[in-house]
Amino acid sequence: MPKQLTPKQIEVLKEDLMSELLRLERSMDATEQASEVVELDQTAVGRLSRMNSLQNQSMAKSLKEREAVKLALLVDALKRIEQGTYGLCLKCGGPVSFGRLSVFPESRECARCAF
Ligand SMILES: [Zn+2]
Repeated sequence: MPKQLTPKQIEVLKEDLMSELLRLERSMDATEQASEVVELDQTAVGRLSRMNSLQNQSMAKSLKEREAVKLALLVDALKRIEQGTYGLCLKCGGPVSFGRLSVFPESRECARCAF
């Protein structure tokens, strides 16, 4: 059973979450711009360029979806830090190891429950 997080460890992970959040917000802006460019492309003539822009559009769309999921997880993790429930597995209630959280600070489940 992993040990519960110390306040110092939570502080470190919070920093990670915050910088990850900033990075993600910048990346989402870029994705937003990319999908706007794709929309302009739709006026392009020719089947090939239309197919390309459709493909780009669906890539931008799925990237946007993945980013939105990640954003929700990061925001949720920060909320749980505020509430004092961060680092506890949502399924079994046991502590999530610091090692796991330093790789995935947004983890909501311990290594055992995640699989
Ligand atoms: Zn668990």
